[in-house]
Amino acid sequence: MNFSFAPIGVIHSPYKEKFGIPRQPSLAPSARMKLELLPPYNHADTVRGLAAFSHLWIQFVFHETASRGWRPLVRPPRLGGNDKVGVFASRATHRPNPLGLSLVELIGIDIGSGVILELAGADLLDGTPVLDIKPYIPFIESRPDARAGFVDGPPPRLSIVWSEQARTDLAIWDSRHPQLAVLVEEVLAQDPRPAYQNDPERIYGVRLYLLNVRFRIHDNIATVLEISAS
Ligand code: SAM
Repeated sequence: MNFSFAPIGVIHSPYKEKFGIPRQPSLAPSARMKLELLPPYNHADTVRGLAAFSHLWIQFVFHETASRGWRPLVRPPRLGGNDKVGVFASRATHRPNPLGLSLVELIGIDIGSGVILELAGADLLDGTPVLDIKPYIPFIESRPDARAGFVDGPPPRLSIVWSEQARTDLAIWDSRHPQLAVLVEEVLAQDPRPAYQNDPERIYGVRLYLLNVRFRIHDNIATVLEISAS
């Protein structure tokens, strides 16, 4: 049997490219995004009762990497990029069916000419097609005593230092993006570098909104160097 699914919505996210997106939801709780429902689902009836739930499961397509296929073994960043586990023992994007599942916070629902869900903490790229939304039910789905294999707790976090230039830049941009400083810190604290890279001189850039945030990492400290229009 084969199945064909059409998106019920699309994500509008500050994450404009894969690099820098936290590897799971909730790691950058300040990331606000919108889920716009598409016709014929953009109707108040489809979300009646949803506002009573604080968290949602979002099922989506890894559309950016979907054409790259899959492998039976993957190297999770949490294992330092060296050890391999089976694709089904991982949350890797390269899967036989390129489907993702993220638990996100529902901030609000905007019903006007269409339906827009305001979300927080999602790990989703701008333009991500959404296949389904389901309310999160804590008494069934919260299992703090569960075994979690190689993901035995939150990842280590880097400390953040702002250069003088970056502070000046921030003052220019944070009127448009009031959460920018916190979001930058949450994103960089996750250490976005690929597991095998450790060059303290190398300058990286992450795109947030329409900005390019340049930084360097040395000794578990990420230094924000500058923020410019991308
Ligand atoms: N929470 C989801 C899950 O477990 O299915 C995603 C986990 S996956 C490891 C998270 C990564 O997916 C992010 O760091 C980002 O690089 C990538 N990603 C997010 N949206 C994507 C998209 N639409 N297409 C391809 N990759 C995407």
